[in-house]
Amino acid sequence: MTAPVIGVLALQGDVREHLAALAAVGADARPVRRPGELDAVDGLVIPGGESTTISKLVDIFELREPIDKRIAGGMPVYGSCAGMIMLAAEVLDGRPDQRGFAGIEMTVRRNAFGRQVDSFEAAVEINGVPGEPFHAVFIRAPWVERVGAGVEVIGTVTGGPAADRIVAVRQGNLLATSFHPELTGDLRVHAYFAELVRAA
Ligand code: GLN
Repeated sequence: MTAPVIGVLALQGDVREHLAALAAVGADARPVRRPGELDAVDGLVIPGGESTTISKLVDIFELREPIDKRIAGGMPVYGSCAGMIMLAAEVLDGRPDQRGFAGIEMTVRRNAFGRQVDSFEAAVEINGVPGEPFHAVFIRAPWVERVGAGVEVIGTVTGGPAADRIVAVRQGNLLATSFHPELTGDLRVHAYFAELVRAA
């Protein structure tokens, strides 16, 4: 079986960690900065970083329309943290000029956990990902406040002050997590996404 070609949007954020995680699960992982590079991938990861900055750079690098088109055409996309924000139809506590791809019918609150603490760790179980709960790392993370009918909630926080908050969702070929699996060496989310790209 040939390796799925998976791009990582390489404008800002923890690009290298995602490239390494994707390569480790057998994908042909490549940075994407130009429309021509986007054309060459079967799936895309939007990394954690700062959604307001990524939003600006998407316009500067003339990637907005090409990414919108690929999403409309069914390309699988996985957004982590800022990447989740970039995939949301509605963002609360965002900057007025930030714009995402609105692929997932959900409302996310930016820096949601950050009102109590900037970053924390918690256990998260993800439907469709067997084994131990994830040791999930959240860094100024969003959470999901509302999902539309077409969205499957696949992960919630299992305990502590943020218990039951929605932190992982899937709508068709679009996947988003509030947390950063690329930072913990747990490759199961990347493996799950690579499988989704292979199947698409
Ligand atoms: N707070 C950041 C944002 O609004 C997300 C943080 C992250 O990706 N680790 O985009």
